[in-house]
Amino acid sequence: MTDPRTAPEHTPRHPRWAAIPDEQWSDWRWQMRNRVTTLAELEGLVDLSADERAGILARADAFPFAITPYYLSLAQGPRCPVRRQAVPHIDETITTPWDLADPLAEEEHSPVPGLSHRYPDRALLYVTHNCPVYCRHCTRQRKVGDATSSPDRAALALALDYVRRTPAIKDVLISGGDPLSLSDARLVEIVADLRSIPSVEILRLCTRNPVTLPQRITPALLEALRPFHPIFVNTHFNHPRECTAEAALALNRLADAGFAVGNQMVLLRGINDDPEVVETLNRWLLRQRCRPYYILQCDPVGGTAHLRTPVQAGVEILDALRGRVSGLGVPQLVVDLPGGGGKVTLVPERLVRREGTRMVFRNGEGREFTYVDSPLPES
Ligand code: SF4
Repeated sequence: MTDPRTAPEHTPRHPRWAAIPDEQWSDWRWQMRNRVTTLAELEGLVDLSADERAGILARADAFPFAITPYYLSLAQGPRCPVRRQAVPHIDETITTPWDLADPLAEEEHSPVPGLSHRYPDRALLYVTHNCPVYCRHCTRQRKVGDATSSPDRAALALALDYVRRTPAIKDVLISGGDPLSLSDARLVEIVADLRSIPSVEILRLCTRNPVTLPQRITPALLEALRPFHPIFVNTHFNHPRECTAEAALALNRLADAGFAVGNQMVLLRGINDDPEVVETLNRWLLRQRCRPYYILQCDPVGGTAHLRTPVQAGVEILDALRGRVSGLGVPQLVVDLPGGGGKVTLVPERLVRREGTRMVFRNGEGREFTYVDSPLPES
């Protein structure tokens, strides 16, 4: 197998950027500066469908789009899984009575601006509302994409102070937006501040940069963050089309630098609601030392009705994966309950019947097997 760290191949670029020197193309700041953010620019690069053009116009104020040259280079026709995650579509205007602006009630659980505290031992810190690509299924589209809503230094200082005053918080998720949109210096400053709080045990960086801007995972950034381990990285690959040589390099650099990397895939209709797609994705992730640990049911946020799948679709994918892929490649299926109810996990039903202590189970091939249970201890 080719070692992704030395693989010579790179993702073919869109012809618009073919002449850009490699040095610039590999520079994450260049990628950020050259994001495609207007209809006029995108029209010059992609043969937009009428539904996409209408979606861009309809959603311009509510949830704008932005796409890095790298991620746009992965996109193909209108049904392409990359394009559907990045380019607005008129179906985003479909509403349902159960759509919510803030499905996880993060604002309700925000004791100070820039921080949510929903579970006793965990806090979520929003350090920026900027991202390389604005994912069309984003749960935080109420504020992501609006640079004016990002917490400033004073607000973040208050949030850090809250963590310092709340020793029950052991685990801080550094999120946003995408925290890797910040400069190295600012990100390291925040991480160092958190690490200076004795009660904080674990830091988690929530970032989609390995997917949408893998050039951001530089040796310099990793070297600067290394002294603050343990740092977990939660990333968010959704489709094998995102599994490029550049993405592999980013994940391997993270693993080599001692970060524990996990993937949270969001289940999306017509994009990855297919066991073969998930199996291919998860096998590739494992080869890059990234553990596929969640399949998330898409949150009922306004603008995503057309992307949401039935919950049963996730259960069937798990059912198909079991027995075909090692347990390492079988994530937990999670529904984050609207209204701040927290996460619940779902599993395919494998217990067929129980006869006294005899329990009959169905395995991944559909065959039945009996396990004789131990009797309960007498009280
Ligand atoms: S990277 Fe994360 S926060 Fe940013 S738009 Fe995508 S899902 Fe939302």
